[in-house]
Amino acid sequence: MPSPQDTHCPYCALQCGMRLTRSGSTAQVGARDFPTNRGGLCRKGWTAAEVLTVGDRVTTPLVRDQHGALAPAPWDRALDRVAEGLVAAQARHGRDAVGVFGGGGLTNEKAYQLGKFARVALRTSRIDYNGRFCMASAAAAGNRALGVDRGLPFPVTDLDEASTVLLLGSNPAATMPPLLSHLQGARDRGGLVVVDPRRSQTARLTEQGAGLHLAPAPGTDLVLLLGLTHVVLAEGLADEAYLRERTEGLETVRPVVNAWWPERVQAVTGVPAAEVRRVARRLAARDGVYVLTGRGVEQHVDGTDTATAALNLALVLGLVGRVGSGYGTLTGQGNGQGGREHGQKCDQLPGYRSISDPAAREHVAGVWGVDPADLPGPGVPAVELLGSLGRPGGVRALLVHGSNVVVSAPAAGEVRAGLAALDLLVVCDFVLSETAQLADVVLPVTQWAEEEGTMTSLEGRVLRRRAVLEPPGLARSDLWVLAELAARLGAAGAWPTEPAIVFDELARASAGGVADYSGLSHALLDTGVAAYWPCPAPAAPAPGAPGAAAPAPDAPAPATPAVVGTPRLFTDTFPRPGGRARLVPVRPLLREPVGQRGGELTMVTGRLLEHYQSGAQTRRVPELMAAQPVLAAELHPATAARLGLRDGDPMLVSTDRGRVRARTRLDEGIRLDTVFLPFHYSGPECTNLLTEAVTDPVSGMPEFKRTLVTVSPLDPP
Ligand code: SF4
Repeated sequence: MPSPQDTHCPYCALQCGMRLTRSGSTAQVGARDFPTNRGGLCRKGWTAAEVLTVGDRVTTPLVRDQHGALAPAPWDRALDRVAEGLVAAQARHGRDAVGVFGGGGLTNEKAYQLGKFARVALRTSRIDYNGRFCMASAAAAGNRALGVDRGLPFPVTDLDEASTVLLLGSNPAATMPPLLSHLQGARDRGGLVVVDPRRSQTARLTEQGAGLHLAPAPGTDLVLLLGLTHVVLAEGLADEAYLRERTEGLETVRPVVNAWWPERVQAVTGVPAAEVRRVARRLAARDGVYVLTGRGVEQHVDGTDTATAALNLALVLGLVGRVGSGYGTLTGQGNGQGGREHGQKCDQLPGYRSISDPAAREHVAGVWGVDPADLPGPGVPAVELLGSLGRPGGVRALLVHGSNVVVSAPAAGEVRAGLAALDLLVVCDFVLSETAQLADVVLPVTQWAEEEGTMTSLEGRVLRRRAVLEPPGLARSDLWVLAELAARLGAAGAWPTEPAIVFDELARASAGGVADYSGLSHALLDTGVAAYWPCPAPAAPAPGAPGAAAPAPDAPAPATPAVVGTPRLFTDTFPRPGGRARLVPVRPLLREPVGQRGGELTMVTGRLLEHYQSGAQTRRVPELMAAQPVLAAELHPATAARLGLRDGDPMLVSTDRGRVRARTRLDEGIRLDTVFLPFHYSGPECTNLLTEAVTDPVSGMPEFKRTLVTVSPLDPP
């Protein structure tokens, strides 16, 4: 039975277990043995308690006054101001003039309630969230090939027995270090294969015979995957029985793959043909083989197709659903998995069901107590939503929960201008983030250790988050804020504020969906059970059936199971028509990078060990800021010398869209044609001033990994 102090890290999707002990009005992080982290935490996790006491915590509602300053206001006045602004925008410009922007760090309960609030209280279709910048391509690929998207369709601990792991575009040594303990077995067996244009911290683990690092040119991962699949098919290494019995579509894929023999792949990617063959043959061992993707291959305008190519490879090898092998994607944000299951996405309802599906609409509307005809249809993905801010026919009032779009969205300068053009910007946050600083109204909300709730980790495990501290000042839960606004808007239905009750409603709304939580509750999770979705409620036994008999008075109470739900998906079937996975033919675009015409380096954006997402939390932790205080751009020493830059020199990175200031950081592990910039900083160091609002047509994912830029010394001699 977990202790009331047992909770999980506020940051990434590994959701490491931790024990948070209280000391007066502060808390301290302690180790906790949990299967994903085994008592280990990364630097962010160890310092997570400091986020609870940051100096600029918002503790009272703030409303912009006649002088243009944010001034403290009582809750009633702030909420009245918000409700009046939302009503006015819709009266003037229609229902879709109000937008809602959520986050992948919100608890399941908040994500669910936010989706319901948009569809029932506002009746707007304009809702999406920052997971669109993170998981959208992998999710789209998983849904179309497998019928469902769960980051890892198996427990993380399955990786312990791996002999070969193909890790594409992921750097867990920086993003989720405790995961490395689960890759140690593959590394020991010489089977860790890292695909990354940079010799990242994870790629360096493959040195000294412990594996292989492939460094394709940025944006050519799809070609590499076609080449690997080509070798598997051409050399008779495919799992023919699996393909015959469990998949469809091989014949549509074969002609595309045939055209990508290893020498042709080498010409495009730069990866030697011999290494393509070597990796493909190693993957064909089948048992103990995993293919894992990350943002490096997904955050592209062809991210869905690239993730699909990885899935095709895994299917041809017969890995998906084979116990002891598998395919998965390493979800990034803390609730990146749950955040996309409960209705924050513009096209989905709770249970991870399409908002266009009449049966799903009817079921969810029934739980919400409204007419399905009153629910709006699909909206638009995040980049399109943000691109419409303040424009004719676009969003005129925006409600933001748990997202700092001024830093994290592509083309950040245009997003800032769009926010400034709104009639009303409302931000619910616990610090005055860069986005909150622009708001007309800031509503102070609770953060991780001040609230009860649930998160769903990258392995589809539903976890309890627990309140250890009282919220400071007047901070209230987002659930309470939404209930208050719903009341002011005269919304139909019930708006509970107790997380356990919201969870019960979420569970009912999800029943029958692919992400079915109907067999779960806070009380069940509090027993310490390992709960993986789908976890449908057990069917009630028919009257007179054996299970319906009353237990004998002296019968022992049934023991709580150690595991409920579905730790491993696809072992027998896929949730698709006919129960088969689908191979989807995908072709490389062989496109030009986006960005500045004539730009000479390809900018790849990414993450640092010390910071998380937009940095709104981690830039407020002194130890983390001391370690990574400024934006540092990684360059190869030869490239830097050519540009007249030495280690530590200030530089400008420019595109037609904007420019940012960075320090030069020399690294021989980066390609000569590439510059790496983390995206955790703001102001003149905001990397997303350089990126463009171009997106993958299937997933809506922006291009974050292939932007042409110009680099120059900041103070040329
Ligand atoms: Fe674990 Fe991720 Fe938190 Fe680090 S940031 S302690 S890897 S959950």
